[in-house]
Amino acid sequence: SAVAELLLAQIRDIPDYPEPGILFKDITPLLNDASALRSSVEEMAAPYRGTAVDHVLGLEARGFIFGAPIALELGAGFVPARKLGKLPAETIEQSYDLEYGTAAVEIHSDAITPGSRVLIVDDVLATGGTGRAAVDLVRRAGGTVVGFSVLMELGALRGREKMPDVEPHVLLSV
Ligand code: 5GP
Repeated sequence: SAVAELLLAQIRDIPDYPEPGILFKDITPLLNDASALRSSVEEMAAPYRGTAVDHVLGLEARGFIFGAPIALELGAGFVPARKLGKLPAETIEQSYDLEYGTAAVEIHSDAITPGSRVLIVDDVLATGGTGRAAVDLVRRAGGTVVGFSVLMELGALRGREKMPDVEPHVLLSV
């Protein structure tokens, strides 16, 4: 679509970042373009309008950038899911496997009340480890995952195969 072309033109490839052999998709030019930023937020929220959403859970760090304005669009609260040790109160954490080692995300224990409806937001779906951990975390807190909205999917990494139980909503597939 025309909107997808506009957005893709504002994402640049950075070779060998953060490690040799990785081609990193840098979204900062898109964030710095007023119409691209607005379109991204609107289109990431669009499928969930008219659905009850109590919380938008944004994944550190770029999921925060999209998550808070999407929460405003949907009339929901915002919950940050952070890397370990960054949240000040009691937390629940979920670890996940990386190619080498493990990582984890956590939320405040009282952020998601049982029975509440949660939309998960991030910038990029890559291997799917982060999204999978977020889905499991929401469910352990007693929440219902209403969706997973991302700006971009790196299809070759097959991340959506890690979440057959949640259909990702993706603006751009590369
Ligand atoms: P996954 O857990 O799906 O492998 O990786 C997704 C997470 O890593 C997201 O939080 C995303 O921000 C980050 N990520 C991985 N690759 C890229 C990339 O090429 N560009 C950007 N902007 N983020 C990435």
